[in-house]
Amino acid sequence: MTSLDRASVSTLKGVGPALAEKLQRLGITTLADILFHLPLRYEDRTRVTPIGRARPGTSVVVEGDVIDCRVDYGGRRSLVAHLRDDTGLMVLRFYHFSAAQQRNLQQAGRIRCFGEVRPGKTGFEIYHPEYTKAGAGLDDALTPIYPATDGLTQARMRSLVAQVLELMDKGGLLPELLPADAGAPEPGINDAVRLVHRPPPDVDIVAMETGTHPAQRRLAFEELLAHQISMRLVREEISLLSSHPLAPPGAIVGNFIGNLGFSLTQAQQKVSEEIAHDMAQSVPMLRLLQGDVGAGKTVVAAIAALQAVENGLQAAIMAPTEILAEQHFVNFSNWLAPLGITATFLSGKVKGKKRNEQLALIESGTAAIVIGTHALFQKDVNFRALGLVIIDEQHRFGVHQRLALREKGEQAGRFPHQLVMTATPIPRTLTMSLYADMDCSIIDQLPPGRSPVITSVVADTRREQVIERVRAACGSGAQAYWVCTLIEESDVMQSQAAETTAAQLAESLPGLRIALVHGRMTPAAKTDIMNRFKQGQVDLLVATTVIEVGVDVPNASLMIIENPERLGLAQLHQLRGRIGRGERQSYCVLLYHGPLGAAGKARLNVIRESNDGFLIAEEDLRIRGPGEVYGSRQSGSVTYRIADLARDTDLIRDAGETALALLARDRGAA
Ligand code: ADP
Ligand code: MG
Repeated sequence: MTSLDRASVSTLKGVGPALAEKLQRLGITTLADILFHLPLRYEDRTRVTPIGRARPGTSVVVEGDVIDCRVDYGGRRSLVAHLRDDTGLMVLRFYHFSAAQQRNLQQAGRIRCFGEVRPGKTGFEIYHPEYTKAGAGLDDALTPIYPATDGLTQARMRSLVAQVLELMDKGGLLPELLPADAGAPEPGINDAVRLVHRPPPDVDIVAMETGTHPAQRRLAFEELLAHQISMRLVREEISLLSSHPLAPPGAIVGNFIGNLGFSLTQAQQKVSEEIAHDMAQSVPMLRLLQGDVGAGKTVVAAIAALQAVENGLQAAIMAPTEILAEQHFVNFSNWLAPLGITATFLSGKVKGKKRNEQLALIESGTAAIVIGTHALFQKDVNFRALGLVIIDEQHRFGVHQRLALREKGEQAGRFPHQLVMTATPIPRTLTMSLYADMDCSIIDQLPPGRSPVITSVVADTRREQVIERVRAACGSGAQAYWVCTLIEESDVMQSQAAETTAAQLAESLPGLRIALVHGRMTPAAKTDIMNRFKQGQVDLLVATTVIEVGVDVPNASLMIIENPERLGLAQLHQLRGRIGRGERQSYCVLLYHGPLGAAGKARLNVIRESNDGFLIAEEDLRIRGPGEVYGSRQSGSVTYRIADLARDTDLIRDAGETALALLARDRGAA
């Protein structure tokens, strides 16, 4: 029996070349990969839950009598029925319904419903439940629901899993890679995968749904450990490479700092020294620079870039979007002009003759500092001597892009130093484990003279008052952002919502110059609007979360964030960081849609009470209980499939220690 991690998915029934390719795009090539494609959640249709015991956020079967059914005209029109059993009352709500369905429900009597429970105005509700007559048959196991993907149905995924589990029953196994004393939670890997795909009826359902069952923890541990080990190995590999040892900062850097018009904060000085020290070594630097929005990372980046230039080398600065790249280019050009140093810009937008000119400057080395988007590492870009690569806001770049950029800079066996900047603070407790492949510097101090943004939390029933506030602020010469958020991941929906909001605001605020920026616009159109906002030609900018990162408009001092309850705290903090950059006192209004649960309130209060990104990150981790951990699978350059950074904090620490121990043991054996 071959081991499941070697056998290809194409050995399964029904997997032809087309499906194999689809699976490959999901990162699934072996039978083991299928097992590690875990259910996102479970549906429990094995038993009927008393209505009084249904909890929001879970899917349940409930059974009861329909006691009334009528159309609710409050807000968005919907059909509302009440279902009653001995323990309580459940609201069934339908936004799409027919007259026939209404009649049918009115006379339905006792029914059985299945769906997700959510909090409503008067109690718990189920939107669009599936329903049948009471007393229908129940399932005999929890039903796993797999992550939805294009062209791969639940039924197909279940059939693939079933085939692999059958092979396991016949003796096919995943290799147990961990020594018994590695500190991994029980059960073993094979029992764990079996259980998560086929939870027995008596399983602890709450644990399964919150991802805290021992089998799930075992798999999360394995994943965390694998990342830890590979990060540490990458790091070891890097330490074997050579780089350009740079002489310490000299006259050019001195002039630059002297011309800034402000002095560096202590924190900026400290991290600049850390960077200079790294770059003096003959192995490539790989350093992460964390600093809250507005902490002054760009100045630190410029100092590092100039140090490379002083050593006769080039520096490349890569930003995740056109807007940010252009903003950096403008800043750097202003800084560099008095020093007689040329900055060059390269992005997807630069084409034809202009592009060829830029490429020639880069190749000859005349372009000392090159700023751009990922276009910087296309095939035809050749640096003469690249000494330093700076990557801004790295959470938008994947590890692979980072590696590609390093390869690109390799010359005669020397690799450029690398500085990665992020404004997404990681809780200090996690930094070491999450960024085991990098050294970390933190700018933990804002430049002086900034007054923190004053934040208020306001229900959207007071929307009119908030609109008045925008009128008043813009009337007195300030500029404002109005940020629209939507639960849907879809760009189209977000953009449409923003368009609608912009139109409504234009109606309410006829005197203001209002513009709209959203993700569906071309980069050129976005840049154009941002530039007009920057130059003060626009009073109110209605935006989707595309303005999240890095854009600097000091005169903008008011930000309204609609439906802040839908965003993570880190993201809210990032958004708010767009204001509070100028002389004026800045205000942020979190315009939430009620009712908010206790945790929801607590979260918004954290943002109201703190302007410290690190503290906010810690609090986010603390408050978000299991079940509210959406979005926390991704952090920095790592995306986890199984582990969840908010939920599995203890496992992260354990995996870090185990990784070190295993690597040390390996080396001892070698
Ligand atoms: P970040 O990239 O960390 O969000 P920036 O580098 O864009 O922050 O800096 C934000 C603003 O603060 C810029 O206008 C910058 O010129 C200014 N700034 C940076 N460092 C200082 C300092 N030490 N004193 C005063 N202003 C500073
Ligand atoms: Mg920045």
